[in-house]
Amino acid sequence: MARHDNCIFCKIIAGEIPSTKIFENDDIYAFADLNPQAKVHALVVPKDHFDDVSQVAHERPELLAQIVEVAKTIATEKYNGQFRLVFNTGEDAGQTVFHCHAHVLTGEKLEGE
Ligand code: 5GP
Ligand code: ZN
Repeated sequence: MARHDNCIFCKIIAGEIPSTKIFENDDIYAFADLNPQAKVHALVVPKDHFDDVSQVAHERPELLAQIVEVAKTIATEKYNGQFRLVFNTGEDAGQTVFHCHAHVLTGEKLEGE
């Protein structure tokens, strides 16, 4: 498993920092965001470390399909199957943790576009 020292999400995946698990399989871990922006706000991350979504697209594109499938599963279990998926990519876009993660926002009717 490709892991980066000092990466907070690698530590969460390894169980070294506690998190509220929502979903897990061999490739993906999903957990509740500490600072939720919707009734249900999950972070869906590849277990291997990639800096951002474009690196995943380049190196392991099949993981992107898995991330979308996991988002759908979470939205179906927690709500009506509808969800918003956001990948902040780069500092100027608001990325603060440089381990690829999808924000899955669901659980209610969302405002904005
Ligand atoms: P970004 O701004 O990089 O797109 O998203 C990072 C997200 O990670 C933020 O929504 C933030 O609330 C969440 N986050 C940061 N540190 C932790 C943590 O230690 N645990 C959990 N569960 N979420 C975190
Ligand atoms: Zn990492």
